[in-house]
Amino acid sequence: MRIFIVEDDLILADGLKNSLMQSGYAVDLATTGADADNILTYQTFDLVLLDLGLPKLSGFEVLKRLRSRGSKTPVLILTANNDLDDRVKGLDLGADDYLSKPFILAELEARVRALIRRGQAGGSALITVGKLQLDTANHAATYDDQGLNLSARELAVLEILMQKAGKVVNKEQMLEKLCNFDEDISDNALEVYLHRLRKKLDYGDINIRTIRGLGYMLENNV
Ligand code: CA
Repeated sequence: MRIFIVEDDLILADGLKNSLMQSGYAVDLATTGADADNILTYQTFDLVLLDLGLPKLSGFEVLKRLRSRGSKTPVLILTANNDLDDRVKGLDLGADDYLSKPFILAELEARVRALIRRGQAGGSALITVGKLQLDTANHAATYDDQGLNLSARELAVLEILMQKAGKVVNKEQMLEKLCNFDEDISDNALEVYLHRLRKKLDYGDINIRTIRGLGYMLENNV
């Protein structure tokens, strides 16, 4: 899952980026409204964390332009104060939620998860495919109620496959969801994650199928 942080307070921005990356998200950062607007015209994210007071272009204007391009990407506004007018204006312009600074990191992460879930089809923190279950809130997977020992990256790959279980996910889609600007995951690395996942999910009924030239598909053969 890819998150875009737009925040000109570098200390806050770096702190957010690090903690969200530790939770397994791919995170990119812009520190001016103009940069954010530019990046949002050609990159797709699962969630945008948007500060309102930004240099060059205000957060309101970034949001307005994003929605005018027809984007439905969930946007969580970070407001500097508890200003009711700002909140109302942000929500009217198409923000999905807001959080007033200073905020508690745990609350921000809970709202991030909720918005990403809402943006995806399901709406629940639990994704289930046969006996395989992934708890996206707690970053843990189980098979037949037995815990699986998966790395953050393996969990991220598994989440993408489980959300589209029974459908083909192509490599480009997977890499786009896994990578951020600073860190590219190579095709080879993705194949290593898939190889490890296959080994750890070697139960017979769960199968990660390679569809030559198209991508990968998670199947439940029960
Ligand atoms: Ca600011």
